[in-house]
Amino acid sequence: MLDVLIAGAGPAGAIAARALALRGARVLLIDRETFPRDKLCGDTLNPGAIELLREVNLTGGALAMGLPIAGMRVTGPGASVVARYRDDRRGVSVRRRDLDLWLLNQAVAAGVRFEPGLTAQSALTVDSADFVAVRGLVIRDRSGVVTRMPASVTIAADGRRSAVARSVGLGANPASPRRWAYGAYFHADNPAPEAVIGEMHVRAGWYAGAVRVPGDLINVCVVVDRPPAGLQPIELMRSFLRRDPELSRRFATAEPVEPVSVLGPLAVDASSAGLPGLFLVGDAAGFVDPMTGDGLNLAMRGALVAADEAMRVLESGDWTGAVERLNVRRQQVLGSKLRFNRWVRRLTASSAGVYAAGLAAAVAPGIVRKMIVEAGDAA
Ligand SMILES: Cc1cc2nc3c(=O)[nH]c(=O)nc-3n(C[C@H](O)[C@H](O)[C@H](O)COP(=O)(O)OP(=O)(O)OC[C@H]3O[C@@H](n4cnc5c(N)ncnc54)[C@H](O)[C@@H]3O)c2cc1C
Repeated sequence: MLDVLIAGAGPAGAIAARALALRGARVLLIDRETFPRDKLCGDTLNPGAIELLREVNLTGGALAMGLPIAGMRVTGPGASVVARYRDDRRGVSVRRRDLDLWLLNQAVAAGVRFEPGLTAQSALTVDSADFVAVRGLVIRDRSGVVTRMPASVTIAADGRRSAVARSVGLGANPASPRRWAYGAYFHADNPAPEAVIGEMHVRAGWYAGAVRVPGDLINVCVVVDRPPAGLQPIELMRSFLRRDPELSRRFATAEPVEPVSVLGPLAVDASSAGLPGLFLVGDAAGFVDPMTGDGLNLAMRGALVAADEAMRVLESGDWTGAVERLNVRRQQVLGSKLRFNRWVRRLTASSAGVYAAGLAAAVAPGIVRKMIVEAGDAA
């Protein structure tokens, strides 16, 4: 039997798989897609994510192909604040198709077996009246054949819409907020600077992120509260970009180089990061909001914590207390940042909050600079 079966080969799945294989576990990583594949994202790794990758000896590769990020510009109604990271702290902008392929290749190089084109339909469960445990996954291949694949430890890394977490009642979209993301790449008509500044433009009811990425492109993501129905994605993006003079001038009539991608609703709550036999990692374990730009850092940190716990279970053969330990550890490692992210989400959920934040930024930009550094895990 497999030691570990992981559904989803995004950053969380790949880094958990690699960590476990390096410690001698037999790991099978599956994904419904073939890599490289695209993923709607702001394409930024914040300084905290770069530090984490360095800690696990992942440098060079896709990171070296990316553009260094030296800070962030945040604008609001009547305010614009630039915060630069310390000289020794840099983020990186890199397209997710390149980042994710590189991380996956690092996992395979560490001994992970990877099988693309396999969709996890649900957890393989053992149920009794008062007890549910997971013993692997129910998998469907591209020709529609469904099989049961047992494993000592199962890890759900299958993203925000995790079929595995939902099959055991652990993940759901909350009733509020209901935000959707629209993402596209536009041509940049000037050479890339040596280090780029990411942008976040926060307005009442919506916000837009923009960053220069390799390949003379600008990644633009627009996130909207309950988007109006009936508009094509590109028209919807333009209708919001037109509301702001600067964004309108830069993007409202530009043609994206690829079709617009759409995702939503974005927020996901998970009541626990697992149950006996199963750990959830990355967005499958919960997702707050992309505004703070730290999803990858949180996803990979949570994945490494779960990999530690999985190793402990493999060595002891005992699941007693494992899920509780993982929940406590996640709180210790991620809790304060998740609370900060929820606070930012609440603040920007109302027009009054956005205008108050704009006013605060105008009179006390230092507070906003601190928040930008906090969001970037760059203190
Ligand atoms: C609009 C937007 C912008 C963002 N911008 C940023 C940013 O700039 N910086 C940042 O740090 N974070 C950002 N994030 C957050 C970041 O994208 C996520 O936190 C990150 O992708 C989580 O990684 P993951 O591995 O958990 O999931 P994913 O990257 O979603 O990977 C999940 C993998 O699982 C596979 N999969 C899905 N379902 C199944 C299934 N049933 N069976 C098998 N495989 C399956 C998918 O194909 C995919 O490869 C953004 C998010 C959004 C929505």
